[in-house]
Amino acid sequence: DTRHGVGDTRRRVGVMGGTFDPIHHGHLVAASEVADRYDLDEVVFVPTGQPWQKSGSEVSTAEDRYLMTVIATASNPRFSVSRVDIERDKATYTVDTLRDLRSLMPDAQLYFITGADAIASILSWQNWTELFELARFVGVSRPGYDLHVEHLAEHLEKLPADTVGLVEIPALAISSTDCRTRVRDHRPIWYLVPDGVVQYITKRNLYRPANSRRLDGA
Ligand code: ATP
Ligand code: MG
Repeated sequence: DTRHGVGDTRRRVGVMGGTFDPIHHGHLVAASEVADRYDLDEVVFVPTGQPWQKSGSEVSTAEDRYLMTVIATASNPRFSVSRVDIERDKATYTVDTLRDLRSLMPDAQLYFITGADAIASILSWQNWTELFELARFVGVSRPGYDLHVEHLAEHLEKLPADTVGLVEIPALAISSTDCRTRVRDHRPIWYLVPDGVVQYITKRNLYRPANSRRLDGA
């Protein structure tokens, strides 16, 4: 039973942060699985502002990433997209995201969802005390990454049992990086991302070298 605390009737809201450049089925399956496992009422997808961890590589505009995330989540009544990170004019830190969502939804219990590759780094360099006051953390499995976060283990023992959860999800070896490479190389991304996202990428000519962009987007 993952309902924490008898009598805790707060709304349970998942928070799925990401660059979403582009959003793909790995993100959507992660959100859906955690929502099921933790009996979440909804999941809010939060595209990052300036992704400092990715500085150096080119990232699509916040507006393009936001719209792709809206397109990908539109059909699910329990999924929504928040602009809190893209409207903050500084680099995205998880703690800021959670503070902003907390003030928008003061009565919700937040569950921050992250892939196996990201959970260790999020928890290793930020202020745990404040993070854990704001949300619970759920790490999901991701092909190629170890979910068992060994170096966190000693710390995890000192934390309340339900502060960090780990969830095994159906393996999808999809990454945004691979999707971008495929588009650049004129290879398909059908079925890796929602159809509407494929069409949006074509329409906006994303992930193609500027000098090879053509109006038909082919
Ligand atoms: P990039 O290759 O540009 O880093 P990405 O595919 O890792 O893109 P992000 O936007 O960086 O996507 O990831 C957002 C969140 O989704 C992170 O917590 C990441 O660990 C998680 N995630 C991404 N892809 C998967 C996947 N295939 N399975 C499980 N979790 C995933
Ligand atoms: Mg990533």
